[in-house]
Amino acid sequence: MLSVPDAVAAILAQVQTGPSEARRLPECLARVLAEDLTAPHDSPPFDKAQMDGFAVRARAVDPSNQNEAVETITLPIAETITAGRIPSVAIHEGIASRIMTGAILPHGCNCVVPFERTQFDEQRPDSVTIAKSEMSPEANIMRQGTAAKTGSTLLRAGTRIQPQHIAAMAEFGIGTVPVFGQPRVAVLATGNELMEVEQPLEPGRIRNSNEPMLVAQVSASGAVPVPLGIARDNESELRSCIERGLQNDVFLLTGGVSAGLLDLVPAQLREAGVQQIFHGVHMKPGKPLWFGMREHGNRRCLVFGLPGNPVSSLVCFELFVRPAIQMLSGVKPGASPATAILTDTISVKGNRPVYQPVAVSISDGRLVARPVKWNSSSDLRATVEANGMALLLSEHGAYAGGDIVEIWLWGDQRLV
Ligand code: AMP
Ligand code: MG
Repeated sequence: MLSVPDAVAAILAQVQTGPSEARRLPECLARVLAEDLTAPHDSPPFDKAQMDGFAVRARAVDPSNQNEAVETITLPIAETITAGRIPSVAIHEGIASRIMTGAILPHGCNCVVPFERTQFDEQRPDSVTIAKSEMSPEANIMRQGTAAKTGSTLLRAGTRIQPQHIAAMAEFGIGTVPVFGQPRVAVLATGNELMEVEQPLEPGRIRNSNEPMLVAQVSASGAVPVPLGIARDNESELRSCIERGLQNDVFLLTGGVSAGLLDLVPAQLREAGVQQIFHGVHMKPGKPLWFGMREHGNRRCLVFGLPGNPVSSLVCFELFVRPAIQMLSGVKPGASPATAILTDTISVKGNRPVYQPVAVSISDGRLVARPVKWNSSSDLRATVEANGMALLLSEHGAYAGGDIVEIWLWGDQRLV
């Protein structure tokens, strides 16, 4: 049976990143940039004032000259420069101009003295008095190109676009950007016992909770979910649903991949021309995971047979499906998991590595993981108190509070 890292590698070996498409900025949130972007001009594009105040020509004060620092100087005011206006008077040591934040600096100006650090009388707006100690070269100004120089890298390919990236592109006049396409991910639940969410429960039956969960996980990972509903455990129904699922970039099935009498999924996938890459991973929960792919024309579909138990499906999506979706969408997968301090004692049963649901939080500036009480892979209830999972190794034996564990956050939660 494959180890988890070997299974992830076997999956990623089958993934080809899709083509890119041009999208306008408002449609770019959470999409993945397909090319590096460079700054088409300097930022800021001109020398600018960083404060409301007075534009002056400052001279470095001789530190040994105590007198000069306390001296004041009264300067005539040449003009008022508001943001967006072009100054018309050059500054020298004998004059100042009133200037507002964001305005272009007049020629000769190398310092803005903030309004509140000056003596200025609105009744006599023709002059301002300033202590020389307030006038130091380069104070409260931002020179052209200090944030970005023309041609410097602005954003790298593979960036998942967030609001601040949209702002950066807008600043540089980049209104349309190349982004990777969003993979389409079909989700099919299988099982005679499954009922739709709205249906009243009948004896011996349960509701289909995996499908809405997986659809949500697909959306949170930035892909487009294609829900296919429930297929009953019979060959013809499974086959027709499988054909529909295979029309997508990724096809997730849940249930029917273990050794039960009605676990028909692997055989039906093979019948449909899906090549099995592996069946079974050395882990808990999630051991029955099935993975394969079908090449059809120029389209490749990655197929995951996820174990039906809800916690197994959840964990397998996070460990195996999410990296595949990331790579299909142009994001480099394989960000190493974080580590956290375990809060409580916990024992590891069996010989497989356990992915234990935990509540991860920050305490005294450090990540801590509190194991939630968890009965088995069907204990979906336990997961609602958790926001991630911790890897517990069987060879480690019992874990004690204070031990360091690797953790993964579920969904689209991110630590930077
Ligand atoms: P299976 O792998 O089909 O044997 O299913 C394993 C366990 O998961 C059984 O208890 C199923 O009832 C349960 N199960 C399968 N599919 C779902 C689903 N879509 N939602 C919730 N539980 C499921
Ligand atoms: Mg089943």
